[in-house]
Amino acid sequence: MSDCLFCKIVGGEIPSKKVYEDELVYAFYDIDPQAPTHFLVIPKEHIASCGAVTPENSAVVAHCFEVIAKVTKDLGIEEFRVVSNCGASAGQSVFHLHFHVLAGRDMTWPPG
Ligand code: AMP
Ligand code: ZN
Repeated sequence: MSDCLFCKIVGGEIPSKKVYEDELVYAFYDIDPQAPTHFLVIPKEHIASCGAVTPENSAVVAHCFEVIAKVTKDLGIEEFRVVSNCGASAGQSVFHLHFHVLAGRDMTWPPG
């Protein structure tokens, strides 16, 4: 999607600090980290949010979670939080599906 920030990151038009990449998924550090470790895992394919997951595209969502397990293990992270905001009122600011992975500090519950 041509005007999507994360599609531009996947395409290399906008620089990012890569954590992991394969043919389906890209992961990179968040520009405004909310924890000592904070990276984002995104499908390369443009999916607007969790609300746009369908039987046709859900395999990449499962793959995102495989990547989260692998990358956290590779980074030596055992405890972490995964967040996906869906919709502006839930905190979504970039409308390309992404999973925040946050680690390195105690987390509170419920989130604000
Ligand atoms: P959300 O608000 O849940 O949609 O998350 C979007 C995230 O993207 C925020 O945590 C931003 O800090 C992050 N972000 C925005 N622009 C960039 C960028 N150029 N590189 C890395 N992360 C970004
Ligand atoms: Zn996109």
